[in-house]
Amino acid sequence: MAFSVREASERILAAVAPLPSVAVPLRDSFGLVLAEDVVSPIEHPPWDNSSMDGYAVRAADIARATKDAPVALPVLETVRAGQRPTRSIENGTAIRVMTGAPVPDGADTVIRVEDSDGGETRVVIRDARDAGRNVRPRGEDLKPGAVAVAAGSVIGPAQLGVLASVGASTVKVHRRPRVAVLASGDELVDLDRFDEVRRGDRIVTSNSYTIGANVLAAGGEAVDLGIVRDDPASYAERMAGARDCDLLITSGGVSVGAFDFTKDVLKSLGAELHLWRVLMRPGAPLGFGTLHGMPWLGLPGNPVSAMVTFELFARPVIRRLRGERQVFRKTFEATLREDVSIAAPLTHFMRVIVDWEDGTAWARLTGPQGSGLLTSMSRANALLIVPPERQTIRAGETAHILPIGDGALSAAQLDL
Ligand code: AMP
Ligand code: MG
Repeated sequence: MAFSVREASERILAAVAPLPSVAVPLRDSFGLVLAEDVVSPIEHPPWDNSSMDGYAVRAADIARATKDAPVALPVLETVRAGQRPTRSIENGTAIRVMTGAPVPDGADTVIRVEDSDGGETRVVIRDARDAGRNVRPRGEDLKPGAVAVAAGSVIGPAQLGVLASVGASTVKVHRRPRVAVLASGDELVDLDRFDEVRRGDRIVTSNSYTIGANVLAAGGEAVDLGIVRDDPASYAERMAGARDCDLLITSGGVSVGAFDFTKDVLKSLGAELHLWRVLMRPGAPLGFGTLHGMPWLGLPGNPVSAMVTFELFARPVIRRLRGERQVFRKTFEATLREDVSIAAPLTHFMRVIVDWEDGTAWARLTGPQGSGLLTSMSRANALLIVPPERQTIRAGETAHILPIGDGALSAAQLDL
């Protein structure tokens, strides 16, 4: 069966649900996805507090203060963060406060210290620009019962900080997916047999490395099942290693012809599976199925095809298993630096280098685009998406770009 990328992706994701939740200590939750809303049991901040080092006063008392006609007030006491005021503000008085300190009753203003003489028992205020300002009301950030962090949120630094603020020492998160990675092919060896590669007899299973790393980058745990020979018995035996995994990703052995063998092995193990021709380049064909409830993705063997199909099909599956709601990377537009042509009416994903100049993204090809050229992938920071109906996109025209990294900039490109 032939599907567009979108159709194939929809079919795959329809068969995948978020993993069950587990309780983990907050400190171990970074990068995982919250499985339930966390509600604040407290008000935060717990008191009206000062956002400045300065003097808590009544706006009315200092409203007319200027450089030429300053206002002098007695200072009743000094309150640091972590202390409580013992006095309240009455007409014509001030209390010296530090940032974060509770603002005493009766004050509606904190005059920043820079607008005063800094006095400790008596203060001269020279500017009224802060009248009515610099008091952060209690409960401004969180009220009791408010959702502090919502289910489905990825716990990044900010979420971790909020969860800590509301006392969530243990949080319920979706279990991190265990993803089995299996390479197949008689021509493959791992690094311990590099002498055979040097002799020209074998190639390294680079897919084990690219897929394993991509699993980690997508937030999963990679379980490397190694390399399996093109032989049914060893295939079936090796597959046993995937027993307590949440996803099985194989590479190779799904090209037409070879698939019969993969299919027979997986079917004999009780799998339900399909081989799809996805209308994309590089990439097709793609295997998909379930083995005792565990989804299986059969990526093509060619190193670039394996990476591009991982990006489009495997990463969203891992993100869904993790409990993420938004599972696709956001595309953006870039202007081409060179003409790009495609030879077949398929969606093409071409390796490009995107750089930014004067706020505009510019894309240029990494060079030849063969699906075996893994160095083209290692130099790329994005994929250029050429839709099937476009034969040529000219230099200066724009096209969609799928980023494959975080798009870091050099200092010279920083526009701040
Ligand atoms: P296949 O899909 O098994 O027909 O393989 C297609 C191409 O990808 C062949 O050139 C294989 O040698 C290559 N290939 C398959 N698996 C891997 C792997 N794990 N690492 C690197 N190249 C691979
Ligand atoms: Mg093969």
